[in-house]
Amino acid sequence: MENNCPENGGTVLGVAPKLVAHLELSELLPMILDQLASLVSYTSASIMLLEGGFLKPVAQRSIFKAEADPLVVHLADLAHIQQAINSQRPLNIGDTEQDTRWLRRPSNADIRSWLGVPLIVKDQAIGLLNLSHTVPYYYGPHDLEISMTFAAFAAIAIENARLFAESQRSRLAAESANRAKSAFLANMSHEIRTPMNAVIGMTSLLLSTPLSPEQRGYVETIRSSGDNLLTVLSDILDFSKIESGHLDLEMQPFNLVDCIEDTLDLFAGKAAEKGIELVYTVDDTVPDTLVGDVSRLRQILVNLVSNAVKFTEHGEVVVSVEALRSSTSQNGCAAAATRMPATSDELVSHVPFAVRFSVRDTGIGIPEDRIDVIFQSFSQADVSTTRRYGGTGLGLAISKRLAELMDGSITVESKAGAGSTFHLTIRSLAADLQPHKGCDPALAHSRVLILNRNAASLNALERQLANWGAQVSSTTSTHEALSLLASNATTFDVVVVDMHLSDMTGVEFGAAVQGLALCAAPQLVLLCNAGDSVDYACANGYIAGCVQKPVRLNVLKETIMHVLRPQCVATRPDSMPLYEVKSVNSPALRILLVEDNTVNQKVILRALEKLGHQADLATNGSEAVQAVRRQPYNVVLMDVHMPEMDGLEATRIIRRVLPQNKQPIIVAMTAAAFVEDQQACLVAGMDEYLSKPIKIEQMMAVLQMCGRRLQSATSRGVAEQSS
Ligand code: ADP
Repeated sequence: MENNCPENGGTVLGVAPKLVAHLELSELLPMILDQLASLVSYTSASIMLLEGGFLKPVAQRSIFKAEADPLVVHLADLAHIQQAINSQRPLNIGDTEQDTRWLRRPSNADIRSWLGVPLIVKDQAIGLLNLSHTVPYYYGPHDLEISMTFAAFAAIAIENARLFAESQRSRLAAESANRAKSAFLANMSHEIRTPMNAVIGMTSLLLSTPLSPEQRGYVETIRSSGDNLLTVLSDILDFSKIESGHLDLEMQPFNLVDCIEDTLDLFAGKAAEKGIELVYTVDDTVPDTLVGDVSRLRQILVNLVSNAVKFTEHGEVVVSVEALRSSTSQNGCAAAATRMPATSDELVSHVPFAVRFSVRDTGIGIPEDRIDVIFQSFSQADVSTTRRYGGTGLGLAISKRLAELMDGSITVESKAGAGSTFHLTIRSLAADLQPHKGCDPALAHSRVLILNRNAASLNALERQLANWGAQVSSTTSTHEALSLLASNATTFDVVVVDMHLSDMTGVEFGAAVQGLALCAAPQLVLLCNAGDSVDYACANGYIAGCVQKPVRLNVLKETIMHVLRPQCVATRPDSMPLYEVKSVNSPALRILLVEDNTVNQKVILRALEKLGHQADLATNGSEAVQAVRRQPYNVVLMDVHMPEMDGLEATRIIRRVLPQNKQPIIVAMTAAAFVEDQQACLVAGMDEYLSKPIKIEQMMAVLQMCGRRLQSATSRGVAEQSS
């Protein structure tokens, strides 16, 4: 009997795409038998797959029996099957009763004809498609041909599904390995950060005691090595978080100028030590307030500026920012944004636009053939870099990934020996479209002379002052500046002079101006480095104001306004030493420290004392709960991991049991490094977060903020009572 096409018959090419599109093996196998039935008739059919020399039935279909035959067959046991598999050719047994290769069993007693078609992938048999019928000599050459073509597609579909299942298994295994790695890194980071808290905290305290220069040198080395170790630790953590896709970016409004100034401040000391100018300019088109993840943006900028300062011995590091016209790029990537300035309409439309930060330095540059390498993890342009400059080679790799998460990119233009410019482009939204810069009535029409030996600084200052509405003249030469002043062609209200000029100091320049005996002498504003020793006693007469570099624009503006109209501006605390600032700004607070580690207790209590605060101590969560019930506290500094009752549980109880007007501000202190840890603290009811090792400056900032919050709550309370 030939050509047994069933009545509802299809074609192999018609059914093949359905098979190949199916990736779930458990659904695919029965589907193969269903589709086969539409091409060739059978009373029973099965698929057997080869596994380590055994043929395992994986799908069966019978028009008589609902039950499948679960028999697993060893190849060598069944001659007819072995023949089909080994020859990789179909085998047609016309009459099972006559054929000696057929092994009769009770379960196959009714089968009279049998067709076995090997399933072949890349010249390897992976299994067998079995068709059987109760009628002898049922299958003819046409059935054989159709079954073979069908089996070829079925084999590909099965192999695809197996590969898919394999890749799913690998993905799950990789995900679980990644989770384990993240957990390990988080634990490791926690374990290392806890003792580092003591090392860094104690060295900070030691540095504030009288020490001989030699001792100070040793302690400073311990402190900076501790800081470096923490940076490496954070880099490794970040890298692993980005690699495992666990890094989420925040979307919060932030002030761009603050972000840049905070970044540059970190390098003020290093730049001053090397005699490098740190300068920044922000184009007028860039809105004041952007929306995005300011800490991650700062992290990228810190890395770029840190490298620029590290690899530059003379000259300057200039950060400039501009908004780019956001022609939607092919890949949604901001890198393709054009260099033309964005229009105000584009910014107002609240459509993300591209912001480009360029960090230019006059340092050693990067050889052309190393430019691609430096963005790879653990790679440096020169193998001797680690020895000379330190670093792990992770910073740019992390920065690049972070920029990509911000839908942007980092590129570099550089030549060995000729400096480098790194361009960071990100996409952002503008949160505030008020024109922030532009003319300030207090400065409009004031006449300002700028004297600075560095052209980049000069340009940036000139641009900014002109932007505020001042009439600006500038020069890099002291000689020219003195001639301009002496000529009396223009009377200047203010001279903004750098402390480090090419042939004298700013103070000496002041004395020279004094010597000109002008009838309308200008006010002098001196720009100096943190470590500069200015002999104010000597300079008192002719220096009206002093601004620390890198120049913070609002400080410069206020200082100029102050020297122009001294009576209008109250004395600002900016020029005071750090610890004096706190006593002006933050009232003494009632603080409860909750900490189980005795070394940490000592470090933090001592730091609080230095900041002018007295604190009580609780050594675990339940002691903390008892303490806040006994007496009111303004602030609770709460460790998270503690025996008996942890900080999260203690916070939840405090939030539940204390009345609203007795609630303290609770600040988490923990060495856990992940965003989820911070979120857990906030969810438990904490207000702020200090990560360990705790730096005295950070603690001061948080306590100042607590003080301000309490003051405004008190004045609100008073206002409500009196109304
Ligand atoms: P590292 O911690 O080693 O600085 P990075 O990933 O930040 O790691 O930088 C990788 C390498 O790129 C550096 O080691 C250095 O060789 C090169 N590089 C980065 N920035 C500069 C720069 N501004 N000038 C010269 N070389 C640079």
